[in-house]
Amino acid sequence: MNANLLQTPIDYLKGVGPSRAKVLKTELGIQTYGDLLNFFPNRYLDKTRFYKINELQRNSADVQIVGKITHIKSVEQKRGKRLVADFVDSTGKMELVWFRGQKWIRENLKINTPYVIFGKTNWFNGVFSMPHPEMELVEDYKKQLRTAMQPVYPSTEKLAKAGISNRVINKITQQLFLEAKGRFFESLSEEILQEFKLISKSEALFNIHFPKSQELLAKAQFRLKFEELFYIQLQLIRKNLLHKKKIKGYVFEKVGENFTNFYNEHLPFDLTGAQKRVIKEIRNDLGSGAQMNRLLQGDVGSGKTIVALMSMFIALDNDFQACLMAPTEILSVQHYNGLIDLCKELNTSIEILTGSTKTSKRREIHEKLENGEIDILIGTHALLEDKVQFKNLGLAVIDEQHRFGVAQRARLWKKNDLPPHILVMTATPIPRTLAMSLYGDLDISVIDELPPGRKPIKTVHRYDANRLKVFAFIREEIKKGRQVYIVYPLIQESETMDYKDLMDGYESIAREFPEFQISIVHGQMKAEAKDYEMDRFVSGETQIMVATTVIEVGVNVPNASVMIIESAERFGLSQLHQLRGRVGRGAEQSFCILMTGHKLSEDSKTRLQTMTTTNDGFEIAEVDLKLRGPGDLMGTQQSGVLNLQIADIVKDNDILKTARHLAIKVLKEDPNLQLEKNKVLHHTFAQISRKKTIWNYIS
Ligand code: ADP
Ligand code: MG
Repeated sequence: MNANLLQTPIDYLKGVGPSRAKVLKTELGIQTYGDLLNFFPNRYLDKTRFYKINELQRNSADVQIVGKITHIKSVEQKRGKRLVADFVDSTGKMELVWFRGQKWIRENLKINTPYVIFGKTNWFNGVFSMPHPEMELVEDYKKQLRTAMQPVYPSTEKLAKAGISNRVINKITQQLFLEAKGRFFESLSEEILQEFKLISKSEALFNIHFPKSQELLAKAQFRLKFEELFYIQLQLIRKNLLHKKKIKGYVFEKVGENFTNFYNEHLPFDLTGAQKRVIKEIRNDLGSGAQMNRLLQGDVGSGKTIVALMSMFIALDNDFQACLMAPTEILSVQHYNGLIDLCKELNTSIEILTGSTKTSKRREIHEKLENGEIDILIGTHALLEDKVQFKNLGLAVIDEQHRFGVAQRARLWKKNDLPPHILVMTATPIPRTLAMSLYGDLDISVIDELPPGRKPIKTVHRYDANRLKVFAFIREEIKKGRQVYIVYPLIQESETMDYKDLMDGYESIAREFPEFQISIVHGQMKAEAKDYEMDRFVSGETQIMVATTVIEVGVNVPNASVMIIESAERFGLSQLHQLRGRVGRGAEQSFCILMTGHKLSEDSKTRLQTMTTTNDGFEIAEVDLKLRGPGDLMGTQQSGVLNLQIADIVKDNDILKTARHLAIKVLKEDPNLQLEKNKVLHHTFAQISRKKTIWNYIS
């Protein structure tokens, strides 16, 4: 079809008009014919079958009946009126019921005229009834473009209010197909269509809106999902290739004094094989001449910090500075203390900058940073402020990446002429294929081995009713010299209910354990108070830490061996796993106790069971992904994977893999899509790139 037609503003489509156009634009983002064409149904109803009234079962969903209205009446009920119509066919009688819009309905219903009705039926007082049926005069019904499967389009309250029902969308889409004469540009090459046995674009679009059969619908869905995922992968991979070629990075050719000295003289332990491998990967990147953009995945406690430090040493050895960003104040302080400790016999200059750094200190840091007196700067988002200017930042390490967006990563770049190398560390295990489609521009390293001597954490589930036994256990462990975390859910830091739970919990713990010292940390505390409480726990002054999830990421207290998670059913799997990772960092046997009430949903049961049966972060991530889908996976909330039109990164993982393979193959052979056979791909790719940048998908 004429490409211009697809650009036509939706206002011009027959049956739309200015007021509907306005709602379509604001509610669904449908601006043009093309947008409407790509607005796909999210489910389909099988309307091939007609029921007779005497065939109805109690509670049938989605039944379709032909009959006539014989009588309409208003019935008073406790809360307002309802409108009831008697509806009959040759086999019996039932009722149609409306609670809303009664006046309009009453005025428009025709008596003794055949209707097709569709909806869900109830059985009440010996009569079948159908509330708010979809209705159409048989006369009109016959004129419509009929298909086996009836599409149901996503709707919103505002759309419904504006009268843009499913039927209206269906009708204007029919109109669009009429005007386009059902012909649309093919967007995949002949070669690809043949290799993967895909139906044509025109056929796919027709069958996605008006499926002729189940089989054709499935083919249409497959073709469109394949296409969508293929072009995303094409963009990601192409960007990655370009990136390697074009974005130059500083070349760190030497491994010098800092690195070697530390490695030979000051390493507090032997590195694991995985740590060595990852350091090697990073060294290669840093010497390659291209900017490093590497994601380092490693389960909690796998020892990412030392990898970060050694990478930073390479930067220092080449006369560059490095920085380490963490998402919270507590974490920054821990990193600072940890690195100071590791470097205590070296003369590395390390500073920390956070939101609570005093103005005078802040000025001093700014100055020393600019004249190069500071080697490593650690801190929170405060590092991204404009005033923070490095003399020559060579490497930025970002811990727990999911709290920093792509835009923020980019912000660091502006601070010098060449972008610094970037190492992003995360303990949130992201299944590899998902990671590739989310962070296609990052290379991935994995630490898949824990330091030796770690005893796997024992995890159990206990009901609230057994709390006394749990308390007795806590007491025993503390008497052995251990420390204990007790964590309360805090879904949103502002939720007063959660705050109350935490405080109630704190009080009952304080009553129960008068002989012990207790720290408390939560999101509403001032930074200094938090630090003070944290410090007391880290130094062993307090034995119990009552906290919300602020302690989730990174906090390291090797002597803590018990993690109690209250209302564990309210946490997501990845959060539970992160929390559990706070213990099991020392030589002692550690425990994680998941406390819940008796009432548990199926999903909660699965989560608890997963936690008690495995310690493997990747396995847990897979279950998490299945339970929640990618939209909720930590770190992907803002990723926009949900902007996908038809494919689902989790459910369509197989298609994703195939599409990714294909994209790699195509670009290897023809990086700029210049070959004759790839003309279609070139054209479509250019169109997509003009409209959406890849950041629509991944930032
Ligand atoms: P994470 O990957 O969660 O950031 P850390 O870097 O905080 O893990 O390391 C967790 C603990 O393990 C720290 O106490 C650290 O000193 C220790 N550790 C790291 N690597 C090793 C190793 N190879 N051998 C022994 N202990 C190690
Ligand atoms: Mg860490």
